Amino acid sequence: MLNGHHLIAGQWVAGATTFLSSPASGPALAFSVGTPAHIDAAVQAAEAAYPSFSALSRTTRAAFLDRIADEIEARGAEITAIGTAETGLPTARLEGERGRTTGQLRLFASHIRAGDYLDRRHDAAQPDRKPAPRPDIKMVQRPIGPVAVFGASNFPLAFSTAGGDTASALAAGCPVVVKGHSAHPGTAEIVAQAIHAAITALGLHPGVFSLVQGGKRDVGESLVQHPLIKAVGFTGSLGGGRALFDLCARRPEPIPFFGELGSVNPMFLLPAALHARGDAIAKGWAGSLTMGAGQFCTNPGIAVVMDGPAAQAFITAAQDALAQTASQTMLTDGIASAYRAGRDRVAAQTGVRAVLTSVCDLRQATPYLFEVSGDDWLGNHALSEEVFGPLGLIVRVRDAAQMLAVAQSLEGQLTCTLHLDEADTDLGQTLMPILERKAGRILANGFPTGVEVVDAQVHGGPYPASTNFGATSVGTLSIRRWLRPVAYQNLPEALLPADLRG
Ligand code: NAP
Repeated sequence: MLNGHHLIAGQWVAGATTFLSSPASGPALAFSVGTPAHIDAAVQAAEAAYPSFSALSRTTRAAFLDRIADEIEARGAEITAIGTAETGLPTARLEGERGRTTGQLRLFASHIRAGDYLDRRHDAAQPDRKPAPRPDIKMVQRPIGPVAVFGASNFPLAFSTAGGDTASALAAGCPVVVKGHSAHPGTAEIVAQAIHAAITALGLHPGVFSLVQGGKRDVGESLVQHPLIKAVGFTGSLGGGRALFDLCARRPEPIPFFGELGSVNPMFLLPAALHARGDAIAKGWAGSLTMGAGQFCTNPGIAVVMDGPAAQAFITAAQDALAQTASQTMLTDGIASAYRAGRDRVAAQTGVRAVLTSVCDLRQATPYLFEVSGDDWLGNHALSEEVFGPLGLIVRVRDAAQMLAVAQSLEGQLTCTLHLDEADTDLGQTLMPILERKAGRILANGFPTGVEVVDAQVHGGPYPASTNFGATSVGTLSIRRWLRPVAYQNLPEALLPADLRG
């Protein structure tokens, strides 16, 4: 059952005003508008929760994460019902995303039980060292304090209320304040109910988690500027992310802003692979490009091919495959109109030729395919900007040197993909040093959509893929964003954190 309120320190709090949700199907519902006063109450409670939560044993914190996963599963049908209505995403996608979300929570539970992430170090004292004795120094990673999380529109579960940012921050021992995304407030509320139930079951401080629903821009602004917030996790647009990043940097005490922003995820089709498998690659690309109406940050929006008959065959095969894709509902009206604006922007650039066009309006998206020469692409930065949706751009390069020039000119990316056969190894080896400096993840003979949540995963990359190239927002390494190393010199055992004792 929805109440439309914020969850602040264990209480369901109504706002003075409400906004109506804008679901893809079903009735619009009223939700409380968040305010800076709600944010302040939530952050103060998070700070109050910090001493006890950060001092919890890892076993208890892991049990908390497992319990959140159980509580989400107990509400599975309810979450899918409201989630599909709010976002227009199909049932199977929401169910899969729920599994990813609970799997992620349980992965972090086992990760903190194992304890390797603490990176404990000990340099024992050397009292007889000359000319001066060496002190005893121990080091361990400690949680940083209250963390702000912005729920993402395109992953209502896995990157939202109890998504990867929240799971990793709670695992680290940091209380969390979530600013809900106005695209799915009902989904956010039910997941918040699950977290609330887990807090109650384990008898934790209620300030460990709060959800403040969307409102005006002042909610997000006051959250990142609150002096007690120590870091921010964000997934969304380049414009929004950059504005919040700048606010974090301008604070009297600047804090890290871990933003996952835009990426076009280029694919490089090397000649032998293009010749031998161009048709299959085109079909695979069409599937990846249109999955979830193209609303993935890892959507492979650009394919770079060496011009010639094999390139033409690839373009025809991609056109045929994309033409068979039905219209899909986008997450919000705003994202749908931004998609059409992006399409018009690409179509208007010098040298761009439309390969596949269609008519899409309202909240619907159909695929578009364009092509452009390497010369025109290299001369026009606008063509390297993300269009969020099922739009593909094929860049026909003249030769290997121009393919390298395209790679060299790229901004930071979440992913870069190589399609290559054995005969392409030399060119692949020449591309690798360039791509390693551009992307968080490089993959071969596959498609970047579908990000495995594992220990070795990196979902990040140089700006504008992310605002912090040393971090990932997916996988167990993401816990590092919420930790700070502290060294303890000659401290008596009784004063050390529990993780360093014994
Ligand atoms: P968004 O506009 O960046 O919004 C994300 C969150 O940040 C929302 O909670 C939003 O609050 C808040 N926000 C944005 N700008 C803000 C500002 N200047 N001050 C304070 N808060 C701010 O992203 P979106 O709504 O999810 O989607 C819009 C576009 O983002 C898409 O068309 C797409 O281009 C891009 N996108 C990219 C990814 C990715 O993974 N790279 C994922 C999703 C979306 P409000 O709701 O109050 O505006």
